[in-house]
Formats: sequence, structure tokens, C-alpha cells
Amino acid sequence: MNKNISLEEAQSLLFERCMPVSRETINLSDALGRVLSENIIAKENIPPFARSPFDGYAFRAEDTSKASKGNPVILEVIEEVPAGSYPRESVVSGKAVKILTGAPIPEGADAVIKYEETEVNGNLVSIFSSFKSGENVVPAGEDVAMDEMIAPKGMVVSPPIIGLMAALGISQVPVYKRPKIAIISTGDELLDISEPLRPGMIRNSNSYTLAAYCREIGADPVILGTVGDRVEDVGAMIQRGLDEADMVISTGGVSVGDYDVVGEAVSSIGAETLYWKIETKPGSPNLAAVKDDKVILSLSGNPAAALVIFHLLGVSFIKKLAGYTDYLLPQIEVKLKHNFRKASPRRRFLRGKLVIENGTAWMEMTGGQGNGVLRSLVGCNLLAEIPAGSEPQPAGSKLKAYLLQ
Ligand code: AMP
Ligand code: MG
Repeated sequence: MNKNISLEEAQSLLFERCMPVSRETINLSDALGRVLSENIIAKENIPPFARSPFDGYAFRAEDTSKASKGNPVILEVIEEVPAGSYPRESVVSGKAVKILTGAPIPEGADAVIKYEETEVNGNLVSIFSSFKSGENVVPAGEDVAMDEMIAPKGMVVSPPIIGLMAALGISQVPVYKRPKIAIISTGDELLDISEPLRPGMIRNSNSYTLAAYCREIGADPVILGTVGDRVEDVGAMIQRGLDEADMVISTGGVSVGDYDVVGEAVSSIGAETLYWKIETKPGSPNLAAVKDDKVILSLSGNPAAALVIFHLLGVSFIKKLAGYTDYLLPQIEVKLKHNFRKASPRRRFLRGKLVIENGTAWMEMTGGQGNGVLRSLVGCNLLAEIPAGSEPQPAGSKLKAYLLQ
């Protein structure tokens, strides 16, 4: 078994076992935030026809080649074309059509003049300058041309993608199903949120935090509840998670203590352990295993330790499972806003938030960095990395950081 491996090694062991979930087709109105399971190709032009960008007159540009302030060209207006109607006649030399914003350019016409720039006398319009072919004509396909891809498979559907699909008449959208994530909290000390506190007991917060983060990235969490520190019980609960979901995340019981039974529980149900422990602080005790092509990610019980590893490993894995093409956390360079007084014998991740000042990216720590300090994840959108073997970091130190989404 792999032991004490790097975060990146753990990540590739997990990614190797990542099977994207199956697909479904949903209504356009439900598609926001979902992941496309096919490239979306335009089968039409947007706009579908050449149109006028404003109210004015459409005509043949060559008719105006000699027009000037003192020598206007005078054209006969043969028709009016409001938006939503289609020109009946084509425009020949000497003729023009009154056209309104969004209306189709009549056949034969290849330029448009703004209403305000003309002089109108009955059915005659005067034009005082020369126009080039195509001037003030919005061509068909200006926004999207037929056969162009408007969004690739693996992209998250955003409001403009919804708009483009609407413009193309795509009412049914091919997406990946939301991955189902079973969430288990292990530990004899755990109470559920509805229970009053008893001596020595704490409430299970991990399940709820993890479920909320899962929901934020478009997964469908299923909280299975808490289970005591017994191999058979934990094994049975994990098996239930595998039966009901695409992936299992557990917390607690992955250290080296007498009650840390998750490793044994995973083996007892016949899962293959991919690794145990990674070289990070916080969150070193965690393991990943696979059974029935489904991954079990077992995190520390300490809330902050569990969630830092969830962000560094779990989020990208779940996004990959969900079909995202862009599933890795973006990396940036930040400057540390305050001193960090501890040495870092092991590779360390600090919780903080991004602050931009005069164009420089700074990281402000969001609170205590202890393993159990959940509160420092409030407002945290950055995990800054201090390399293993580093001395204390003075304010202003440059650090690599992962942007959380
Ligand atoms: P463990 O990883 O099981 O050794 O637990 C480490 C610490 O995390 C202990 O102080 C536990 O009480 C705490 N803990 C374990 N599970 C949870 C949970 N679900 N919610 C909040 N704290 C927990
Ligand atoms: Mg425990």
C-alpha cells in the first residue's frame, strides 16, 4: 500500500479511478450550473438573417458613390419593413426601403443609413454621403455562425450559454447526472444536530459542511449519518454508501489510534486501499480506497483537516466525476499579509482569503490554523502552500496558493 505520499501522487491515484457519471437530458430552464455532456453546436445562424442595427433606410451602397453634402442622392422609398416582418420587394438602383431596428435587410440592399442622417420628403429620401457595401448591416451569424460550437462538453452551463441555446431553439440540454456522494461521519463521540449535548460528546458538523460543499460544486450529497468506532459497523455503512451513491466520503477514524477503524473497515468489505496518509499539514491522516469502481475518500475527523483535504483532493475528484473538463484548482501567487510564526517541517496549507491591493494579490489568514478550527474556513477562498522544511514566514513572503471555488 502507498503510505505517506504527496498530494499530487494521491491525486493521480484518485484520478485514475475516476469514472464520469452517466448522462441525462434536462429542460433548458433547469440547466444553469449543470455540466454539458456533449458539445453544443449551432444548427442555425444567430442572427438568422442580415438585419438593420437601427431605424433608417436600406439601399444599394453603389447608388451613393457620388453623394455629398451639397449633392445628395435621392432615392424612392418603396416599402416599410418593421421588425418581425419580411421585405416583399427587392431593392434595385434608385430605390430604398424604410427599415426598423432588427428588421431583415431586403434583397438587393447592402447598406443602411440612420433615420436622423437623412432628409425625407414624401416617399423620397435624401442621402448626403457615400456608403460602402455592408455598412451598418449586421450580417447573419454575426453572433454565432451555423456549425460553430457555442459550448464544449464538460463546460458548466452559465447564463449566456442558456441564452445562446434559447436563441438556437435548444430546449433540451444534454448534461451529466449530478454525482451522488454518500457522506458518513465515524466516531463514538458524535451526536446528531437534533440531540442535546452530553458529557464528552460533540455534534457531528463534518457531514453537514461536506454536504454543503458538495452541493456547491453541483454534486448530490446523501448524509448517511454517524457510526460508532467499530469495524463491522463502519464497513456496513461504507458498503451502504457504495450501494446508494457514486462515491463515499467519510470522516474520522483514519489515524493510528486504537479506535481508528476505517482502514480495517475498508479492507473488511473487500475494497482496495489506494493510499494511507499524505505529506501535508493539516490533514495528513486520510485514505482512499476503491470498490466496485467507486472511490471511498476517508478524511480526518478534525473539521479543518478534513475540509482542507476535501478542497485539495475531493473537490477536483468530484468535479472530474461530474464531467467538468476544468476540474483542477487554479493556482496563483500571493503575498502573505501577516507573519506566520511557526516553522513548517511538513508541507503546510494555510487557510486565508484573497485580498487585492494596488494590483497585488495578498493572502489574509482567516483565523487559527489548528486542525479543529472550522471557523477559519469561513471566508476562506485560498489555501496557500508553505513548502516542507520552511522556516517561519514573515509578512510579505511570496507563496503559491490554490484558489477555492
Ligand atoms: P478522529 O479523526 O476520529 O481522530 O477525530 C479527530 C477529532 O475530530 C476529534 O476531536 C473528534 O471528536 C473530531 N470529530 C470527529 N468527527 C467529527 C465530526 N463528524 N464533526 C465534528 N468533529 C468531529
Ligand atoms: Mg475518532
